Amino acid sequence: MAGIYIHIPFCKSKCIYCDFCSITKLALSNDFLVALNHEFAFRKNEFQNETIETIYFGGGTPSLLKTSEIQSILEGINKNYAVAKNPEITIEVNPDDISFDYLKQLLKTGINRLSIGIQSFDDAILRFLGRRHNSNQAEQTIVNAIKAGFKNISTDIIFGIPGLTMAEITKCLDLFIKYKVQHISAYHLTYENGTKLYKLLDSEKIKLIDEDFSLEQFTTIENHLKSNDYVHYEISNYSLQGYESKHNTNYWNGIPYLGFGPSAHSYNNNIRSWNTNNLNTYISKICEGKLPSRKEKLTKKMQYNEFIMTSLRTCRGVDPEKLKEIFGIKHYNDFVVAIDKYIKSNHIAINNKNYILTSQGMFLSDGIISDLFKV
Ligand code: SF4
Repeated sequence: MAGIYIHIPFCKSKCIYCDFCSITKLALSNDFLVALNHEFAFRKNEFQNETIETIYFGGGTPSLLKTSEIQSILEGINKNYAVAKNPEITIEVNPDDISFDYLKQLLKTGINRLSIGIQSFDDAILRFLGRRHNSNQAEQTIVNAIKAGFKNISTDIIFGIPGLTMAEITKCLDLFIKYKVQHISAYHLTYENGTKLYKLLDSEKIKLIDEDFSLEQFTTIENHLKSNDYVHYEISNYSLQGYESKHNTNYWNGIPYLGFGPSAHSYNNNIRSWNTNNLNTYISKICEGKLPSRKEKLTKKMQYNEFIMTSLRTCRGVDPEKLKEIFGIKHYNDFVVAIDKYIKSNHIAINNKNYILTSQGMFLSDGIISDLFKV
């Protein structure tokens, strides 16, 4: 079992918080698609014994592609890899560039899961973030997606934004609930170095919101969604029963995946590799018949840290028997000692013998997980 990730590195404009690999020079789109097709063929021997169960179009803005281009990418994958009969195929779409007809065509390509980049239903917040859509377009996209026949829809919300009120958060969640979207991702705003948002913070034009208010928002989202039948199955992800993202769940379970396109990462048998994040370099190297990537073999310590991080992020938590079996008694003993203070402080609980983050623990997960890492 394995997954494929395709990175589409184009956006119409750049949102102020975004540090993903994306450029606004859409003229490179054709050259990119040719290079992507070559990359499928170059790397076809990497996963000869694996069946591809999930395909994920991320970005950037994959919905800037024509549906015929998406179709030919899927044909390229099918030509070079063994794809399962009913794979989960997800595409990230932005409300400002898709119509009802586009969604109907998308469904015909085999895409069966939509991830709609909504972030908020507050127009002032959307403008502040530099998003190109407004709240009406966001709601209309959900309506259109359902009408077009999508049965697996994911939406997202960003919280922790300066000026965002609890009332707006609840309004956003209530709209998701009203349309019974199957999956909701909830992310705290992050200030990545090099972004416009970071510069605003650095020049004191905006302020970080109070940590207690952040926690209140996180807890409100969790309680509101849980009381409406959503399962909090990963720190930033909620779903109705049976609608967890298979692609991301496989990643958290250590299932191999291949990433194509600039900046895409791959993982297989403890080898991790990543493509250049420069689109021009990506295209020119591939045209020369070279792979624009670097790779590293994960050491035992890196594998342990990866295991702790991916396990603790999910609701299944760390299975101590599995930890002992893979990494040995010493790592197990070290883990049990290190985790004790978090159990006493109620940041970690034991559930069916596994160690899981509590709600308070999830909110502070970055610090807790890195504290448990081997250095
Ligand atoms: S649409 Fe997504 S990828 Fe593009 S700039 Fe905005 S956040 Fe970044």
